[in-house]
Amino acid sequence: MPYHEFECSTCIPERKKHAVTKGVGENLTSCLPLGYLKTIPGSMSERGCAYCGAKHVIGTPMKDVIHLSHGPVGCTYDTWQTKRYISDNNNLQIRYTFASDVKEKNIVFGAEKMLKQNIIEAFRAFPSMKRMTIYQTCATALIGDDIAAIAEEVMQEMPDVDIFVCNSPGFAGPSQSGGHHKINIAWMNQKVGTFEPKITSDYVINYVGEYNIQGDQEVMLDYFKRMGVQVLSTFTGNASYDDLRAMHRAHLNVLECARSAEYICNELRVKYGIPRLDIDGFGFEPLSASLRKVGLFFGIEERAQTIIEEETAKWRPQLDWYKERLKGKRVCLWPGGSKLWHWANVIQEEMGVKVVSLYTKFGHQGDMEKGIARCGEGALAIDDPNELEVLEAMKKLKPDVIFTGKRPGEVAKKIRVPYLNIHAYHNGPYKGFEGWVRLARDIYNAIYSPIHQLSGLDISKDEIPTDKGFVTRKMLSDANLGEDIVSSTHLQEYTGRYDCVSSLRGKTYPAFERKPIASAAE
Ligand code: SF4
Repeated sequence: MPYHEFECSTCIPERKKHAVTKGVGENLTSCLPLGYLKTIPGSMSERGCAYCGAKHVIGTPMKDVIHLSHGPVGCTYDTWQTKRYISDNNNLQIRYTFASDVKEKNIVFGAEKMLKQNIIEAFRAFPSMKRMTIYQTCATALIGDDIAAIAEEVMQEMPDVDIFVCNSPGFAGPSQSGGHHKINIAWMNQKVGTFEPKITSDYVINYVGEYNIQGDQEVMLDYFKRMGVQVLSTFTGNASYDDLRAMHRAHLNVLECARSAEYICNELRVKYGIPRLDIDGFGFEPLSASLRKVGLFFGIEERAQTIIEEETAKWRPQLDWYKERLKGKRVCLWPGGSKLWHWANVIQEEMGVKVVSLYTKFGHQGDMEKGIARCGEGALAIDDPNELEVLEAMKKLKPDVIFTGKRPGEVAKKIRVPYLNIHAYHNGPYKGFEGWVRLARDIYNAIYSPIHQLSGLDISKDEIPTDKGFVTRKMLSDANLGEDIVSSTHLQEYTGRYDCVSSLRGKTYPAFERKPIASAAE
């Protein structure tokens, strides 16, 4: 598997070992792109900083918390709102952001006094909020402000509040991944074991590495509840602060995004002996296998199987409608971290879409190894690409669509390649059986939308075609399909509602009988 050298990066020789092409006949990896290293000076990265990884990715999805950044307001603004991790308490955590807003004089004279005033002021402004997270930034770390001491002082003076301190300034790692690690360990050391939960089931899990992007967590919670499994906490989407303090009481850690949250699972295993089970909520087969694994662990496989059969019967014909129309389409799978291996194989298997390139902004070599092993021959794998490399790759590979975040997405739009935002989603959730159909629907619309075809026109001088009138689905996606597929009464386009999450809130579930021995032990 040879390294791939970008023409635009010949002036940055260090970049040579950051891209490889999967060789013919290779099933596994004989060499990997370098990964999780400091960004090379002169190569314009699209990474976030370690503070962003801690606060924006992991901390802020907690729903009943004042999230306060101790630093310049710019750090706070840059990590506000864009991720769409919704919650069932009216999205408080994405409606507000808090900052101590340090200025030059605070850098010279210190900002601890001001921070204390800010903390008290925030609690007074939101009297129903009794929990707070505080995030260190570069500026306040460099001047040595002792946030933990200030938080302790406030907790002494206000005994009904609880504060978590995350010391992960921007420079605490080569990318946001460094911040993921810092906040995992900080939460484990400061908060786990400080709250006792009410146990209501014989089967109790922490759902870890799940951030409720457009409702992913709520969809998965529905399956667990239908199985009679109590989800004690979710780390951290739609999560309550106090539930996360009680993580030590779970029987099993069910881990979704290993890249961002395996650290706390590993610590919980060492300190409390809680086993870790890695699952995958994306795709019919991976999700079915995941529910079966959780069922198998607790000896309730039949409950999982019932859900799998019900959901598959309902949604498979709709997934297959899109698969018939997406077969052979080419995608650059360019997410942040773990989706590059969660999706590499399954989108080809279940939607017919071929992965021609993988990249990761902050993934480690292990993520690349899994991603490359799961994609086909000839796929180009790139670590931490710069903007020019992204453009060169798209021009060479000619994908029909790219899956990425909004910064590279804007670059793709400039050369009229459709893109799907797979960090914050377009019309998610994408987890769950219905969610996977929603992703297929969004891919279909991205590829076939007439807007993209028209976007190549310069209306100030080009002729606008007037002979076609409305462009129909038959002309766009069905022209080369067989009559049996076009007229199939079995296959069906997506039938769900625009909002498929709200109806899950307040839903009631069957009460499963508890085991007598387990009940007595509690
Ligand atoms: S690198 Fe430092 S200054 Fe920049 S956003 Fe991150 S914490 Fe703020």
